[in-house]
Amino acid sequence: MSRIVLKFGGTSVADPNRIENAADKVQAEVKRGNQVIVVVSAMAGVTNQLVDYCQQIDPGCDAKEYDAVVASGEQVTSGLMALALQKRGLNSRSFSGWQVPMICNDQHGRARIDDIPAENLENCLKKNCVAVVAGFQGITKSGRITTLGRGGSDTTAVALAAAVQADRCDIYTDVDGVYTTDPRMVPLARKLNKVSYEEMLEMAALGAKVLHPRSVELAMAWNVPLQVLSSFNPQIGSDSPGTMIVSEEDIMEKQIVNGVTFTRNEAKITLLSVPDMPGIAASIFAPLGAAGINVDVIVQNVSPDGKTTDMTFTVPKGDAARTKEVLESLEPLKGTQIRVSNDIAKISIVGIGMSSHTGVAQTMFTTLAENKINILAITTSEIKVSVLIDEKFTELAVRELHKAFDLDQKNVG
Ligand code: ADP
Ligand code: ASP
Ligand code: MG
Repeated sequence: MSRIVLKFGGTSVADPNRIENAADKVQAEVKRGNQVIVVVSAMAGVTNQLVDYCQQIDPGCDAKEYDAVVASGEQVTSGLMALALQKRGLNSRSFSGWQVPMICNDQHGRARIDDIPAENLENCLKKNCVAVVAGFQGITKSGRITTLGRGGSDTTAVALAAAVQADRCDIYTDVDGVYTTDPRMVPLARKLNKVSYEEMLEMAALGAKVLHPRSVELAMAWNVPLQVLSSFNPQIGSDSPGTMIVSEEDIMEKQIVNGVTFTRNEAKITLLSVPDMPGIAASIFAPLGAAGINVDVIVQNVSPDGKTTDMTFTVPKGDAARTKEVLESLEPLKGTQIRVSNDIAKISIVGIGMSSHTGVAQTMFTTLAENKINILAITTSEIKVSVLIDEKFTELAVRELHKAFDLDQKNVG
């Protein structure tokens, strides 16, 4: 007997029919003698609708009430899934975040899970009951509902798998695995049979939304065997040729580049004529950090006159307005021009083989140059290179880099 966590994303539970289809998969796993915990997302589109309702009332609304509203979609699906399982003769009940409980810190809207006492779930499993847990939501120590950030139901599933020491965590979604890039943008994208935790973490953090970054981080830290598979294929977990996320040692042939990712979720902030003196970076970035704003790519130009310099950095698009406010309040930036641009994209190439090969960045830059795409900023780490470009070139850049790194599917029509 194995213990498995099955997670179904929004498209996989988009209506009662799809919930029944997902329930069939759960039933098939139970019939094989497995103990099963199910995690569900809100029905497709529901969370967006709830976010929109909050913004209609107040664009800068109280984060605690925002969480109370947007968490509600998952509660509906968890009840419906438990009903579908009961209809199939299974013993099943729903659990909201607070009923598990998924204890989170109080960073509303992007909370982190601190602890999951497993007693309630263990009691349920002991009674041969299928626990259906509402993804995305948790409870703070002070008893407030919180959420884990958009896409966070993946993280609920992996965290639960770690807490109950599950043998496997299957993430059912609307594609049949992790691809070399978003298959909706590049039809020639190739499915990866295996991908390392390290690469998957970079890909997720750099825009491949198929997995929530924190879920990969947790799977890596707790050694949770993680699989991505389609809820629309007839197979169930152990029979599915989905994508396994595995340790680097389990990958024989390490590709130099395994994925191309993109994100349009960042804004570029440019500061013109910043005083060039020791401590200036700290006096800018410390207040942004204190305001909970995550700064990503930072570029500082040389100072031609030794007195002032220009500085560019990126922040999440949703934080751009707040970033401007914080910057405008800073004494050392009096007289500095602050420009905010939302029309940028970050394009990245990721691969564990990159660390031992030269010329990878050069191929990236040449490919972009050949397509007349200007690079606004560059950052690298051992297994990735990212560039900022004008957003309108996103698709062209992704497609051309995918081709240049020989990732296009061969033998296609
Ligand atoms: P769910 O609702 O099941 O959580 P998501 O929409 O969050 O599903 O994630 C699945 C989507 O991720 C796919 O439909 C696909 O368009 C997108 N995606 C982006 N990058 C990749 C990638 N590299 N491989 C697979 N899917 C990707
Ligand atoms: N329903 C949430 C969202 O749309 C969480 C999830 O689906 O993972 O972001
Ligand atoms: Mg998702």
